[in-house]
Amino acid sequence: MKLLRFYFKTNLLLRILIGLSAGAVAGLIFGPSIQCVSPLGDIFVRLLKLIVMPVVVFTLIVGAASIHPARLGKVGVKALLLYTITTAFAVALGLLVGNVFKPGLGMTLAGAGGAGGLKTDTPSLLQTILEIVPLNPFKSITDGNMLQTIFFAILFGMGVAYLRESEDQRIRNAANTVFAFFDGCAEVMYKVVNWILEYAPIGVFALIAVVFGEQGPEAFGPLGMVTLSVYAALLLHLGLSYSGLLLLFRVPPFKFFIQAKQAIITAFVTRSSGGTLPVSMDVAEKQLGISKGVYSFTLPLGATINMDGTAIYQGVCVLFIGFAVGAPLTFSQQMTVILTAVLASIGTAGVPGSGAIMLMMVLNSVGMAVEPGTAVAMAYSMIFGIDALLDMGRTALNVTGDLAVTCAVAKAEGELDEGCWQEGERRPA
Ligand code: ASP
Repeated sequence: MKLLRFYFKTNLLLRILIGLSAGAVAGLIFGPSIQCVSPLGDIFVRLLKLIVMPVVVFTLIVGAASIHPARLGKVGVKALLLYTITTAFAVALGLLVGNVFKPGLGMTLAGAGGAGGLKTDTPSLLQTILEIVPLNPFKSITDGNMLQTIFFAILFGMGVAYLRESEDQRIRNAANTVFAFFDGCAEVMYKVVNWILEYAPIGVFALIAVVFGEQGPEAFGPLGMVTLSVYAALLLHLGLSYSGLLLLFRVPPFKFFIQAKQAIITAFVTRSSGGTLPVSMDVAEKQLGISKGVYSFTLPLGATINMDGTAIYQGVCVLFIGFAVGAPLTFSQQMTVILTAVLASIGTAGVPGSGAIMLMMVLNSVGMAVEPGTAVAMAYSMIFGIDALLDMGRTALNVTGDLAVTCAVAKAEGELDEGCWQEGERRPA
């Protein structure tokens, strides 16, 4: 009983950090046998997933309904532009760091064995764009198809926004009732997010313990250079690109990172931007003071298409594989990587490990297909082996990027309330 009281009284972030470190230590001590705690982590991930679609639908409808449609267009264009620019920067940085660290140089992998059955089919760009328009929006929601859901929720929200200004009082009242209903639904979901976060420290402990139990020592071994290069590039992107972007929009970067930390840590441990979305939205609203009209749209969009961490990882890993198989990438191949990695990261789903699957598309574009038995497949499987560790960092950066761009857009639109940035204060729920 006392323990429970102590648990709930201690600061949440402190509890999460304790869970994180204790998990890493337990994983390193117990090795693969720590697997037995994995259900505790799975519950946490399931709880987060459970609320993703309701949070997105309700918040986006309320967001779109509370902002003038023309304004929504402006927010959308700004967000898309910043998302694309930061991602292109990210791959370039990944390639730069990879060229400096040269992970994999000196390895001489020859074809034998390797990763089989890891082929992926990537739909064409046109197809992807066409499929944003859902045939059945309810199916999109139940299938968890984010872009289709965003499309429908915005359309619905815009309809509400128009009707709330109708001349006809009956319609105006009805639209306001619909608005109030979804607003209430969104608030209820935020409450649930807060409850789930109370469980986070235990879930975090289990998730990290399993990763370190299985792959911890390997990260310090021969693949250490890849891990180091990926993390160095991630940190550089954080320190240079995001800080630069925020400074450009007159937002203090350090304070921003402090305010956003809860979402960043959740992304780090869950390895899913999609799963972290409810926490990012909570952070945007309560810690960063961003208006719903902006974040309700830019965050789900970012969690779906903006993956800077993934782009960096792809840049570094393609270079690693090139060096490892004795075929370092030429300059023009690296330019191709910039383009395909941007597209691949857009197409990467915000779930654990999907960046590693899309890496195959990037490899294909420079003539290094992952075919069973080839040296490329061997190098690829080595990276695949430590994917969880790389995924933690890249997902944390993916989510930081979504929040940084959202913050910049909100500032530009005058929708950022920096009043709540004082000393870890939260806006009242
Ligand atoms: N896990 C990453 C995310 O959810 C995607 C990836 O695997 O790169 O953002």
